[in-house]
Amino acid sequence: MSGPAFARLAAGNAARRTGFGSAERRAALLALAKAIRAHEAEIMAALATDLGKPETETRLTEIVPVLAEIRHTLAHLRRWMKVRRVLPTLAMLGTRARLRPEPKGTVLVIAPWNYPFSLALGPLVSALAAGNAAMVKPSELAPATSALIVRLVAAALPEDLVAVVEGGVETSTELLALPFDHIFFTGSPAVGRVVMAAAAKTLASVTLELGGKSPVILGPGADLKRAARMVAWGKFANAGQTCIAPDHVFVPRAQEAAFLTALRAEIARMYGADPRTSKSFARIVNGRHFARLKAMIDEARAGGAELAVGGEADAAARYLAPTVLTRTEATMAVSREEIFGPVLPVIAYDDLDALLGQIEAGEKPLALYLFERDRAVIEQISATTTSGALGVNITLAHYLHLNLPFGGIGNSGLGAAHGIWGFRAFSHEKPVLEDRFSSLGLLMPPYTGAKARLAKL
Ligand code: NAD
Repeated sequence: MSGPAFARLAAGNAARRTGFGSAERRAALLALAKAIRAHEAEIMAALATDLGKPETETRLTEIVPVLAEIRHTLAHLRRWMKVRRVLPTLAMLGTRARLRPEPKGTVLVIAPWNYPFSLALGPLVSALAAGNAAMVKPSELAPATSALIVRLVAAALPEDLVAVVEGGVETSTELLALPFDHIFFTGSPAVGRVVMAAAAKTLASVTLELGGKSPVILGPGADLKRAARMVAWGKFANAGQTCIAPDHVFVPRAQEAAFLTALRAEIARMYGADPRTSKSFARIVNGRHFARLKAMIDEARAGGAELAVGGEADAAARYLAPTVLTRTEATMAVSREEIFGPVLPVIAYDDLDALLGQIEAGEKPLALYLFERDRAVIEQISATTTSGALGVNITLAHYLHLNLPFGGIGNSGLGAAHGIWGFRAFSHEKPVLEDRFSSLGLLMPPYTGAKARLAKL
């Protein structure tokens, strides 16, 4: 099933080889944007089915980011595609050098279930902008959205330019054996390793957008109310099923009680006294993930953790209330694994330097968030920590800034997406070097006289 689709894309690529200029790429992106607008109601319905995602949240986190990526790309594409001259180095005087971005070829996009629409189509925008043919494999865990993506793409784009292949691990494994020129994977670090190993077989390049635990540090000069508001939004949007959601919060011990009070107030302000009835709170994607999260809470509580907020759970409705835990231990699953749900450990700390050392000793996070007013502390933490991105007095929003690269480092990913970085991920910047005056004779045998002397300089 995927073999013939791959062959169609490769043939399409060959046919377009010289003709897929900026006008054609723009037309493809405009057709995609038009189809997204035409399917808005269906997109909302699919995400309500898969994730109980509130309409406004679907607009803000699934539709708007893809349309913004298209708009941004249309505005800059001609410049990104330009062949750029570079100056000769001293040794290369007399040559002319240029950088020509060319499409990588036939590329594969594998998407996760948590933002199943935008994380499938966002990378597709960059792939098309860079002039590639693309195969997209949406997540099988968001089946309504996956089926919708098939219809939407078929309505907008020819099948020798984009193919959508549905399925789970088996399909993914089959796709990964095909000789793609680039694989853009968004998902867990564990599967990221599988993808990279498969890519080694065909020497495809990879972009890996992975996950992990993204900590929040409240510095000594944090504005607690602002931190509580940002953390509540960042953590409980999409019921915590966000790759860059604050995973856990470190708070100075003396401010723990005040922060918890502020957090409780913000959660109530956003989701009301009973978040179950809120029209703004999503559900857990499936029974397996619900059981995983419930087990995390139960284990933590059995081990002495305290429930500061929430804890209510309804398996049939896949509803898990915004939940805040205190007094968690490092040995608990909630401290070891990416939580990826509406469960937030708040951890009191005594010494900021020791805490930074502890964070640096762990896996490099996809996002690190710092709440602090003192410029010197902000600069110090910015200079001494490593993470995919650092958010200062903010959560999540760096994802929406298209002039910033989005990606991880180490365990949280490889390469970057969005804007020009997405375009580059799917391009090969081909150096073109031209000899203008037959000026390189000095490099050639026989190595005698002036040549031998020059080589010693
Ligand atoms: P996942 O790794 O389980 O699945 C992602 C995709 O890989 C799916 O399409 C799935 O079908 C496929 N897949 C699963 N197992 C596979 C295998 N053995 N071989 C080949 N393909 C396989 O991830 P998920 O559960 O869908 O998403 C959650 C994870 O994704 C979290 O870790 C989260 O942090 C991360 N994530 C990262 C970003 C980012 O932009 N960095 C965005 C969203 C989610």
